Amino acid sequence: MIVAIIDGYTDEPAGLGVPPYLGIYPRYAYGAIKKARKDARIFYLTIDDLRFTFEGEQGIKTKNKTPNVHKTKEILEKADVIIYIGGLHTPGKYLSAVPSQVEEVAKFIKPFKGIKILGGPAFMGSAHEGGTKISSKELTLAQAVFDHIAYGDLEAFLYDFFTNPKEANPLRFRDYSELRDYALLGAEVVKQFPDYPDFVIVEIETQRGCPKAAGIGGCSFCTEPVRYKSIEDRPIEDIVKEVEVFYNLGVRHFRIGRQSCIFSYMAKPNDRVPVPNPEAIEKLFKGIRSVAPEVKTLHVDNANPAVIANYPEESIRIAKTLIKYGTPGNVVAFGLETADPKVAKLNNLNSTPEETYEAVKILNEVGAKRGYNGMPWLLPGINILFGLPGETKKTYELTYEFLKKILDEGLLVRRINIRQVVVFPGTPLWHIRDKVKTEKHKTLIKHYKYKIRHEIDYPMLKRLVPVGTILRDVRAEVFDNGLTYGRQIGSYPLIVGIPKEIELNRFYDVLIVDHGFRSITGVPIPINPNIESPKVLTYLPGIGKKKVVRILAKRPFKTKEEFLEIVEPEKREIYRDIVVI
Ligand code: SF4
Repeated sequence: MIVAIIDGYTDEPAGLGVPPYLGIYPRYAYGAIKKARKDARIFYLTIDDLRFTFEGEQGIKTKNKTPNVHKTKEILEKADVIIYIGGLHTPGKYLSAVPSQVEEVAKFIKPFKGIKILGGPAFMGSAHEGGTKISSKELTLAQAVFDHIAYGDLEAFLYDFFTNPKEANPLRFRDYSELRDYALLGAEVVKQFPDYPDFVIVEIETQRGCPKAAGIGGCSFCTEPVRYKSIEDRPIEDIVKEVEVFYNLGVRHFRIGRQSCIFSYMAKPNDRVPVPNPEAIEKLFKGIRSVAPEVKTLHVDNANPAVIANYPEESIRIAKTLIKYGTPGNVVAFGLETADPKVAKLNNLNSTPEETYEAVKILNEVGAKRGYNGMPWLLPGINILFGLPGETKKTYELTYEFLKKILDEGLLVRRINIRQVVVFPGTPLWHIRDKVKTEKHKTLIKHYKYKIRHEIDYPMLKRLVPVGTILRDVRAEVFDNGLTYGRQIGSYPLIVGIPKEIELNRFYDVLIVDHGFRSITGVPIPINPNIESPKVLTYLPGIGKKKVVRILAKRPFKTKEEFLEIVEPEKREIYRDIVVI
């Protein structure tokens, strides 16, 4: 029995599976098949393997991957079953991987005779950019290409299918006791992941469903409560065991990110705002650290600011736990979406601007201190959604003012994520889709995006990582136009543009020298002024174009001091420990 799993990459409100993230779906699928059929030979392929195999250099959108080109076609030819996993519900900007959609994979796999199965959120459609309404086109095409579509949990369907195909129910969901074995058996698929072992970050599941939605219903646009009607918290022992298996396989980067709110893990349901459970979170992260002592990244993802604002004491304990056991650069993304109370009410959103402000303040008090990798320990991110029903011009102004207040009060926010709403079938928004404002407010949205990027993001980034900061362990990922782009591994890492081509897939410590609106410029250290190009020298703080001419004329320097004499006096301290001659 030969099985091919094709990872088309997934991005959802509560879960990420875009490289370097290895998401839950391919792992659980692998484990379910292994449990059902010990003799199965399971091959993990990425959509980039297929792009390169069938379209060559032109097709591959991931510049630094070495696809399995020799094997891909052979595997697909021999495969008895071909499983495709995909679905983008919260499209973002990706540095070195481009998620797929059914239309793309269909043209690659159609000629092969294996039984074709579709899994992941793709059956609800995929949005490759904000501001779109999902049509039934993707599902119709999927129904034509795939023999089976898992509308419930792919792993539940696969276990049944490989045990007794006639009984397999594509609508079936599993619970956490069923998942236990699949998760543990599925971990070894990581060995086939292109970023394994040094660069992969594994997304770990702690909870399904949304505690807020269970109390008062979901946010109008969100697919999470549509797919998972009730809340289920994954047992601590199961999470810790899964991390241990990955750790023993050599994985060192983890995000405990597959949940709608980490502060609501094992929380007590309570209408709109569940009561957090700091003891459970302490036990969870202590357990993880005990089985993964030398972990390099231990981050989380989403949090509901209303929980933090309404239960500050418990939340401060939780934030301290995340810092105690986690690693710096950690981010919890807050889904504020809008600062307009009328829009929030109409769309049944989860928190008020006042609550979000309070939560931002609390996290700053606990987590803003800079950690050993150059980033603050634990910061909030803020998600903004434009185009929601009920929006007026005032809505944009209120949201802008809210963000401005955070900036003006000296607080830190790791990122402001501005998306445009996507309308998915089955969500409450689907019923009022004619009221979505993405088209009508196109100019307003463009204007405020620009305003926020220039007037908030830019100064915020300068405050977050001032010139002279050293970011540790930045992985060089892709080349573009004479530049190298890299980032640390973690939750929402900053993209660093490096003004020269350096060897990819290595970690560098980088001196921050300049800021863009959403990314920064950095130069790897140590810096040798005798060999750096004029282009790199121009970027260095306290040098600039004029001094570059002097540096070039004076090279080679014999001592560090000789070089420092040329640097502006107030910037010399930056170079004390990072210049080599
Ligand atoms: S709080 Fe809203 S956006 Fe977040 S998971 Fe729940 S329903 Fe979705």
